[in-house]
Amino acid sequence: MNGKLQMKGIFRAIGHYFTFFLLVAFVVTCCMTLFVTTLSNNMGIALTSENLNAAAKITFWNVILISLLFTVIDATRRKLTVDRPVKHISEALEKMMQGDFSVRVAHVSKLVADDRFNDIIDGINKMAEELSGVETLRTDFIANVSHEMKTPLAVIQNYGTLLGAPDLPDDKRIEYARAVADSSRRLADMMTNILKLNRLENQQIYPKAETYNLGEQICESLLGYENVWEARGIEIDTDIDEDVFVCADSELLSLVWNNLFSNAFKFTESGGTVTVSLKATERFAVVRVKDTGCGMSAEVGAHIFEKFYQGDTSHATQGNGLGLALVKRVVDIMQGEIGVESVLGEGTTFTVKIRRAENGLEEAR
Ligand code: ADP
Repeated sequence: MNGKLQMKGIFRAIGHYFTFFLLVAFVVTCCMTLFVTTLSNNMGIALTSENLNAAAKITFWNVILISLLFTVIDATRRKLTVDRPVKHISEALEKMMQGDFSVRVAHVSKLVADDRFNDIIDGINKMAEELSGVETLRTDFIANVSHEMKTPLAVIQNYGTLLGAPDLPDDKRIEYARAVADSSRRLADMMTNILKLNRLENQQIYPKAETYNLGEQICESLLGYENVWEARGIEIDTDIDEDVFVCADSELLSLVWNNLFSNAFKFTESGGTVTVSLKATERFAVVRVKDTGCGMSAEVGAHIFEKFYQGDTSHATQGNGLGLALVKRVVDIMQGEIGVESVLGEGTTFTVKIRRAENGLEEAR
């Protein structure tokens, strides 16, 4: 391969030399002919073939030398201004093709090479940065999914083995079967969330937009948790403005309310309060879900919308850290906003802002 490249280089150098030779020969021959003819005519010098032969020989060697000089100068210029940056760029691309996205190309000096190389280099560096980010996300995602799957699978495996024991008392059999069912439900939930998230991440537009009453949807969603708040003695406080309409995919938006409510109930102790409000501003529907639960630190708050992040590990078995990632994605698709305020030990408030439907009331009627 190297030998082939070397041969190619030699042929290219010969080609360049030959081009310069022809060019210089042409220029020098034209100049000399003009010079000699003018001189002999003006001064009346008779040119003999001997004179001409001697001059032609000297001129020929001159042409060879000047062509050589030009070839060397041109080769050096080309090496510094083109070959070197191109070599660095191709080496970086080669590494990237082999999966190494940590590679970065240094800028070339403006004094030596064309500045446009730096534009190409900037583009390549940016591309490497983006690809390395995507690669990290991908590997992190696979590592997280595998890690999250291991725990329920281990539970299923252990309790499955225990269930096979002969003469198992009924209460143990029921307990083990419940553990297997819970873990498989957890796995199924996680898979459903991963699939939803995957679908949402590849979706920029939501085709099923319809105008509907947001207050009604929020109340319906909240009522789905009635058995939870009753069983745990959690007080519910609601302040829902009437006739607030949004134009959105109701199925997607219900994901947001369900996740926020399920978190509020999960992180609120028995006897606490969950407050839900819907207020209409001129352009936005503002939904607040406030709880008097455990709250979270600023450090946790900064990561809660990341996939698989769980700040509170004491409730880890009741979720998989995908809920708020889904919520954020849906709100982004709706071009809305989501914010969180929380005080450790006092409670948390999530605020979601969604654009109201223009003339929602008329459309809905
Ligand atoms: P999970 O399903 O595990 O709860 P989420 O994505 O819904 O995952 O939430 C991520 C993290 O955000 C939780 O582990 C918790 O630390 C924090 N969090 C979310 N909602 C609340 C809340 N209402 N109160 C306190 N912490 C919360």
